[in-house]
Amino acid sequence: MPPWQRFMSVLWQARFFTTVNRLGDLPKYKVPEIAFAGRSNAGKSTAINLLCNQKRLAFASKTPGRTQHINFFSIGGAHVGQHRKDATRTEEIRAFLVDLPGYGYAEVSGSAKDHWQELLGRYVQVRDPLAALVLIMDARRPFTELDTQMLEWFAGTGKPIHCLLSKADKLNRSEATDALRLAHTVLSSYVDESGTPLPFTAQLFSATKRTGVEEADAKIRQLLGLSAEETTTAWDTPDTLA
Ligand code: GDP
Repeated sequence: MPPWQRFMSVLWQARFFTTVNRLGDLPKYKVPEIAFAGRSNAGKSTAINLLCNQKRLAFASKTPGRTQHINFFSIGGAHVGQHRKDATRTEEIRAFLVDLPGYGYAEVSGSAKDHWQELLGRYVQVRDPLAALVLIMDARRPFTELDTQMLEWFAGTGKPIHCLLSKADKLNRSEATDALRLAHTVLSSYVDESGTPLPFTAQLFSATKRTGVEEADAKIRQLLGLSAEETTTAWDTPDTLA
C-alpha cells in the first residue's frame, strides 16, 4: 500500500441487514457469508466493530430481544452509492458478516439453551452460503466446552475456521506465544476422514492495542472471496463512514 493511502477495507461497508431467530428466515441471497462465534464477553462485538471500523455495529446484537438472534450485516448493496451522483446504479450485496449469539451465559438453561443448540448447531452445520467461521476466544481462556462444541459442529462441514485469540494485550510476549502455540496444537488435531488436517487457523488479536487487525481483515476477505480488494480508497468509502 502506498504510504499516502490509509488502510481501508471493504469490510468497512458493513451495514445492519436483518436479524433472524428461525432458520426459515435466513436471507435467501446466495452470496458468501462468514459467521462470528464466541463465548459471551470474549470480545466478539468489539472485534466486529473494529474490523468494520464502526462504533456500534455489532452492539445491535446486544439490544434486548436480539441477544439470542443471528444478526446479518451486508457488504455492498444498493446503499453503497446512495449519496453519489450516480445513485441510481444499484450494486449487488456481495457478502454477509454474521454475528451469532454469544454463548456460555450461566443463566441460559433449559429451553433457551435448547433453542441456542438448535439454532446455532443447525445454522453452522447446514447453511450452504456459510463459507467459514471466525471463532473469538479470550486468549487467556481458549477452548472452553462450548467453543469445542462449535469446533466439533463445524468440523463436519470441512469448511475453514479462523480463531481470533482476543484480548492478547492481557498477555505478555511469552504467554502470547504459548497461547498461539497451544491453539495451533489443538486445531491441528482436527482431521478429516482421510487424516488430513482441517483448514483451521489462529492468530493473536487485541482490539485495545489494534494487534492483528490487518491480518484478520485479510483472512476474512480471503475467506469471503473478496481478497482481490486489498483496500478501498478514500473516495470509495461510503459517505457515512468517511
Ligand atoms: P462479546 O460479549 O463477546 O461481544 O464481548 P465485548 O466485545 O462486549 O467485550 C467484552 C469486554 O471485553 C468489554 O468490556 C470490552 O471492552 C473488553 N474487550 C474487548 N476486546 C478487548 C481487547 O482486545 N482487550 C481488552 N483488554 N479488553 C477487550
